[in-house]
Amino acid sequence: MEMVCPICNGLSSYVVKCPFCDSSMEAQAAVQDYFDDYSPYLDKEITQKLDGVSKAQCLHIFSCPQCHRDKRIPIDRVLM
Ligand SMILES: [Zn+2]
Ligand SMILES: [Zn+2]
Repeated sequence: MEMVCPICNGLSSYVVKCPFCDSSMEAQAAVQDYFDDYSPYLDKEITQKLDGVSKAQCLHIFSCPQCHRDKRIPIDRVLM
């Protein structure tokens, strides 16, 4: 058994409503993947702690195709 993020693993598509225009936002890559591009010396665990998200959650950016705003939403990992 392992804790995995359903979005990173393609297990489910998460639908989030845009708080600004009510459209469906689309899930983007996990935030720590972005950090990896810019901070190659930090491992994922440290990055997650810096971001204030526990290991039980995976922080994703959701972007709105209508108004082009984005939002960070922590996704609960599931046991697999
Ligand atoms: Zn994820
Ligand atoms: Zn929107």
